[in-house]
Amino acid sequence: MSEDSPFRPALEHALHHALSHLENLEHRPVTAYATLETLRRRLAKPLNHASMAAERVIDELVADTEGGIVGSAGGRFFGWVIGGAVPASLGADWLTSAWDQNAASYACAPAEAVVEEVCGEWLKDLLCLPSHASFAITSGCQSAHVTALAAARHALLERRGWQVERDGLFGAPRIRVLSSDQFHGSVTQAVRLLGMGTACVQGLPSNDEGQLEAATLEAALRDTPDVPTIVLLQAGDLNIGAYDSYSELIPLAHRYDAWVHVDGAFGLWANASEHYRHLLAGVEQADSWATDGHKWLNVPYDSGFAFVAHANAHRAAMSHQASYVSYNELVREQKDWTPVWSRRGRGFATYAALRELGRAGVAGLVERCCEAAHALAVGIAAQRRVELVWTPRINQGLIRFLDPRPEATESDHDAWTDAVTEAVLQTGEALFSNTTWRGKRCMRISVCNWQTNSSDVARAIAAVAEVVQAKCAERVC
Ligand SMILES: *Cc1c(COP(=O)(O)O)cnc(C)c1O
Repeated sequence: MSEDSPFRPALEHALHHALSHLENLEHRPVTAYATLETLRRRLAKPLNHASMAAERVIDELVADTEGGIVGSAGGRFFGWVIGGAVPASLGADWLTSAWDQNAASYACAPAEAVVEEVCGEWLKDLLCLPSHASFAITSGCQSAHVTALAAARHALLERRGWQVERDGLFGAPRIRVLSSDQFHGSVTQAVRLLGMGTACVQGLPSNDEGQLEAATLEAALRDTPDVPTIVLLQAGDLNIGAYDSYSELIPLAHRYDAWVHVDGAFGLWANASEHYRHLLAGVEQADSWATDGHKWLNVPYDSGFAFVAHANAHRAAMSHQASYVSYNELVREQKDWTPVWSRRGRGFATYAALRELGRAGVAGLVERCCEAAHALAVGIAAQRRVELVWTPRINQGLIRFLDPRPEATESDHDAWTDAVTEAVLQTGEALFSNTTWRGKRCMRISVCNWQTNSSDVARAIAAVAEVVQAKCAERVC
């Protein structure tokens, strides 16, 4: 190997900085601590005229972003639903950049094309989806929704004699999406991009468990039976990780000729564990599924997966090749299955994560996160003036902090909850995000990182306890 390689200094510096980041996560605040002004002042330099040494670019990038990197790669990050990256997956992601393949097609990235084929088979197996389903690696769950819902749009309109890929949507029958009111904003974005309009989504009332009930869905379906309909079901909603009842709702939707799409951004991964699989009974009967790699599987951003039970509808929606063109079925061209043309070789990082973890490792990761979420919720709720609003059934829970003043109202508790959550974040010991659930402000507990262990859980509980005690003492004095 050549010592004067133009790559070596930059890559060696990058390796050094990456390790120093990952190995110090435990000793640094989990939250970002540089202000917006600081980051702008450091980073918004005039663009240099002269070239710079590559390793100096890397060193200055690290220096200038100092404090502006959240500790989401580590075990004390419980905000939103954000995973870390298992080591092999991170390594494969680096190689993906070094190899710099254009993964659009087999011709420019043969190994990646085969790796994606294999990932598709492994994922269907692990997530208990039908083996005949088609598959695409996307940039995340939203783009997986776009992919799967484009297939739905194709199939629903084709049955009505409308070729949407050729004729567009002007003049086409309007499609509606029926869902519980717990659907994720990425679905709204997906239907906008697909030209269906946000008004097409009808959020039907959910029950106390966050589920859509059969009677509610049937009433909506029966009301206007001739409208082309997509039924969107949740596999793990973002507040409480609710699962709809698939074995009841999917056959019902199919009786009305609806297409059933499942948003399983993180919740679909429960199917990898025999302890949690019962939550997803019947989900394999759906027509399409979307999930993420960068959440629970702990693949680096950005990584998502779409699966479609009707491969022809999927390919017709995504491929630029007319459906009558016959081409070599022996080669799987990714661009026939994804909304984008040129793209990075996203398969390598997924392949590596699945190999590193293995079947047992994925199951173990899911189970450890659920146990950690439960321990966090119970531990935090053991404090006075804390209400456990939702005990995690999977990896999501909700906590509400109660304003200690005797005359405090619900809206005081709302403000108090936000203030405590913010104060916890300021300690740098743990990071939680917040939400409004059933009209109440809550702090969310969300555990998605392979690294979260019992000492992270203990540290987070202690930090919250300290904040609650200090703030209550301040308030009642
Ligand atoms: C995160 C999430 C999404 C969106 O996924 P992206 O990967 O951010 O596009 C969709 N649905 C649910 C339930 C989610 O948690």
